[in-house]
Amino acid sequence: MSDAAIIDGKAHAAALRAQVADGVAAFAAAAGRVPGLAVVLVGEDPASQVYVRSKGQATEAAGMASFSHRLPAEASEAELLALIALLNADSAVDGILVQLPLPHQIDEDRVIAAIHPDKDVDGFSIANVGRLSVGQPGFVPCTPLGCAMLLEDRLGDLAGLDAIVIGRSNIVGKPMAQLLLARNCTVTIAHSRTRDLAEKVRRADIVVAAVGRPHFVRGDWIKPGATVIDVGINRIEAGDGKTRLVGDVAFDEARAVAGAITPVPGGVGPMTIAVLMRNTLVAAHRTAGLPYTG
Ligand code: NDP
Repeated sequence: MSDAAIIDGKAHAAALRAQVADGVAAFAAAAGRVPGLAVVLVGEDPASQVYVRSKGQATEAAGMASFSHRLPAEASEAELLALIALLNADSAVDGILVQLPLPHQIDEDRVIAAIHPDKDVDGFSIANVGRLSVGQPGFVPCTPLGCAMLLEDRLGDLAGLDAIVIGRSNIVGKPMAQLLLARNCTVTIAHSRTRDLAEKVRRADIVVAAVGRPHFVRGDWIKPGATVIDVGINRIEAGDGKTRLVGDVAFDEARAVAGAITPVPGGVGPMTIAVLMRNTLVAAHRTAGLPYTG
């Protein structure tokens, strides 16, 4: 069997970002203002700083207004909640993103709950989780929505396909399973207590791995021709004191069996920020009472 097709997340993300930029221009013409995204960073975690910078750059590249708010690592929960209240009330801000994780003195759940659901472009609030669950329009977490877009682009209609999602986190696994269910897949959700995981993966037409363990899913688990979406981002030793990023799937093994597979890096990762841009544009349309057709 020939090697799997490589799903080029970078190219998909670039196309989505270009589509969002067009949408921003059309929105600005209709609404007389540009959409705005506020990103809040508490503390100085280096990885979070990189993510926040990339989000700000992507927001500006799409023609939207980027508002960056930084609080010191020792900021209190009350200070952060007061900032969120200001952003909730600010008509120039369509989307609010609080970069996680937060310092230990701040309760993440309370912070997420404080963001107005219509500005919760990360889709983490209970209101948006509920909307996804019952099929109402809301905001869906960016990473799983990006995975669903890659799958639909590759496979078209997903109805009737057997899908397995490995991982059940609130930000990836659970919303991914909901999205696949909403697309009429038959969905298995696997986790650390799942028995006979390899057997279950072997039945799946779609495999989404969101585990956080390098090379966890082996090639001989994959059904020939299956579509494999690797969400994992794991840094491993590459020799010479260097490190490199790998996914949750043993890529070379899986590639020999699968029909299509996302690489790491360059697969799911680039889609996440592109979908955040899209969610912000959608939020702006809803606030302005304009239809979004993208
Ligand atoms: P979490 O650690 O929150 O969840 C991991 C999940 O994997 C849990 O549900 C856990 O099960 C399950 N798991 C752990 N060990 C096993 C096992 N042996 N067998 C089966 N399931 C297992 O991680 P996230 O969902 O936040 O992230 C997953 C991966 O995706 C990480 O590598 C992360 O870096 C990456 N990621 C990538 C993003 C991107 O933009 N590409 C965005 C977000 C995450 P249990 O619930 O039972 O503990």
